[in-house]
Amino acid sequence: MTTSMPAGHRAASPRATSSRRLAWLDDGWLGGCRRSHSPNFDARPLGVAIDSLVIHFISLPAGRFSGDAISRLFENRLDRDPDPALVSLAGLRVSSHFLIRRRGELLQFVSCDDRAWHAGASRLLERQACNDFSIGVELEGDEYHRFTEPQYRRLSALVAVLRQRYPLRHVAGHSDIAPGRKIDPGPFFDWPRFLAAPGVAGLSRPGPDEACNHAGSAAISR
Ligand SMILES: [Zn+2]
Repeated sequence: MTTSMPAGHRAASPRATSSRRLAWLDDGWLGGCRRSHSPNFDARPLGVAIDSLVIHFISLPAGRFSGDAISRLFENRLDRDPDPALVSLAGLRVSSHFLIRRRGELLQFVSCDDRAWHAGASRLLERQACNDFSIGVELEGDEYHRFTEPQYRRLSALVAVLRQRYPLRHVAGHSDIAPGRKIDPGPFFDWPRFLAAPGVAGLSRPGPDEACNHAGSAAISR
């Protein structure tokens, strides 16, 4: 893929990046993955425990699993894209803490200590505004394709390391916390497999009556 590293940094290959061991560096950033700074974040509310994980899917353009458009969306760099559909997204100010690409490559866009803008209007266990207390993970995918083995492996490894630093208790799909408005991670995300994976056991997923109602959905699931 096209690198989203700052100029002057040499990007590792996806295979090499995926095989690195994840470890906390400082201020909520992980070592062992590619770092790419999104300006779309702000401070979390004081005193709020980061206890939830939100799983999403994203593909840009919808259904295409290549290129660097996702990174450019999170970095506000779609304004000059030759694809009019992508240029139309240039005004969005969105982000996620992490993206896991089809081959398992992990990218981080926002410090986990900060609030990324991934969930939008949402509710989890009677709490509104899930961005306040959650970490957002985007899986490159859509509602028509199975997620890949490397993505599941990378996701469970990520959750395990997140739990070293944050008191994660809950995991939800975007569709769980914004039902009717969002469909991701969609029918091809294998929840039983994920919840049984090493490092994930013990997290609870809320029931369908614990979320809120909105309308609409898109492959860019915000
Ligand atoms: Zn989403």
